[in-house]
Amino acid sequence: MLEHERVAIAVGERSGLPVIVAVHSTALGQAVGGCRLWRYRDWRDALDDALRLSEAMTLKCALAGLALGGGKSVIPLAPGSELAPERRRAAMLDLGDAVDAFGGSYGVGEDVGTTAEDMLIARERTRYAYCLPESEGGAGEPSEPTAEGVRLAIGVTLERAFGSAEVSGRRIGVVGLGQVGSRVARRLAADGAELVVSDIDASKRRLADELGVAWMDPDNALGVEADLLVPAALGGVLTPASVGTLRCAAIAGPANNQLADDSVAAVLHRRGILWAPDFVVNAGGVIYGSAMEMHGCSREDAIARVGAITGTLEAVFSAAEEHAITPLTAARRVASERLEAARRRRATQR
Ligand code: NAD
Repeated sequence: MLEHERVAIAVGERSGLPVIVAVHSTALGQAVGGCRLWRYRDWRDALDDALRLSEAMTLKCALAGLALGGGKSVIPLAPGSELAPERRRAAMLDLGDAVDAFGGSYGVGEDVGTTAEDMLIARERTRYAYCLPESEGGAGEPSEPTAEGVRLAIGVTLERAFGSAEVSGRRIGVVGLGQVGSRVARRLAADGAELVVSDIDASKRRLADELGVAWMDPDNALGVEADLLVPAALGGVLTPASVGTLRCAAIAGPANNQLADDSVAAVLHRRGILWAPDFVVNAGGVIYGSAMEMHGCSREDAIARVGAITGTLEAVFSAAEEHAITPLTAARRVASERLEAARRRRATQR
C-alpha cells in the first residue's frame, strides 16, 4: 500500500527530464526534503529513491522535534550523462513548477547533485524553495551543520559502545569524503582520532595527505577494522551480506538510508554492532536550515539547536536497551508516537 500522501511525476516542459516529487507526510507540518539530481538506470529506481528518502525525512523531522513533515524530489539523469548549464537551469525551473503545484505542502532544498544556486533558480517559479545562498539571506550550505550533528552523534555512539565519548585514540573509518564526510574527517582528526578514510574519487586522497591520516581502497572500505565506521557516501550500503564483512563495533554516519532494508537493523544487532539511525545522526542540516529560513533564527542560535541531536540519540539508545529492541525500532516508535499525536490533534481541530 502507498503510505505517501501524494506523489507526482511529470516530464519537465523545459528540460524534458522527469521530475518526481514525493510527499510522505504533512502530519507535523510542511513536508521538506531536498532535490536529488542523480544518475539512475531507470526512472523507476529514482521513484523508489524518492519514496524511501521522503519517508526518511518524515522520521528525521519527527525525531528532531520539528514541526515539519517529510518529502523529497528526484530528477533522474541517464547513466553517464552530464547536464549542460542551460539544461540544468531548465530542470531547476521545471522543479520550481512541480514544487509550486503542491501549493506549499512541500518545500524543496538542496540534496546530492543540487546546490544553493540551483534553489535560487527554482525560487523563480516557487516561493517554496529553501536552502538559498547566504548572499541571498538563506541558510547556505547545510553540510557544515550536518557535520556538526554527525560529530555529536559520534560522541554519543562511542559513549554507549565504549563508556567514553572521547575520540582521541579511537580508530575511525570515514567512507566518502564529500561535503559532509570531509568536514567530519577534519573534526575527528583535530580531536585526535586515528583516522582511515576512503572515497571512490581518488583526488580526495589529497585530504588524507593533508590531515596525515591513512587512506584505504574504496572497494574494501566498509570492512575496515575500526572502533567506529562513518558511512558518508550514498545509501543502501548495509546489506545482510555487507554486514557480515564488517569489522567495527559501532556505526554513526550521515549517509541517508544506510540500511538496504529495515531487516538489516536486526542483523547488525545480532552481530553486536551498535548502529546510530542515520535519520537521527544527519538531522543537523534540516534543523539549522529550518531555524534560519523558517523561524528567523541567527546563525548562532540555529547551530545551537543542532545540539539537540545529542539528547535525541541518547534517548533512542536508552529506549533500545530498555526494551531490548534495535535502535531503528526505538527511533521509529518515537517518531510514530509524535506523528500519531499530531494526527489526533488535527482530527480534533476539524
Ligand atoms: P557528496 O556528494 O558531497 O559526497 C559524497 C562522497 O561520497 C563523494 O566524494 C563521492 O565520491 C563519495 N562516494 C560515492 N560512492 C562512494 C563509495 N562507494 N565509496 C566511497 N566513497 C564514495 O554528498 P554529501 O553532501 O557529503 O552527503 C553525503 C551523504 O550524507 C549522502 O547520503 C547525503 O544524502 C547525506 N546527507 C547529507 C546532508 C548534507 O547536509 N549535505 C544532510 C543529510 C544527509
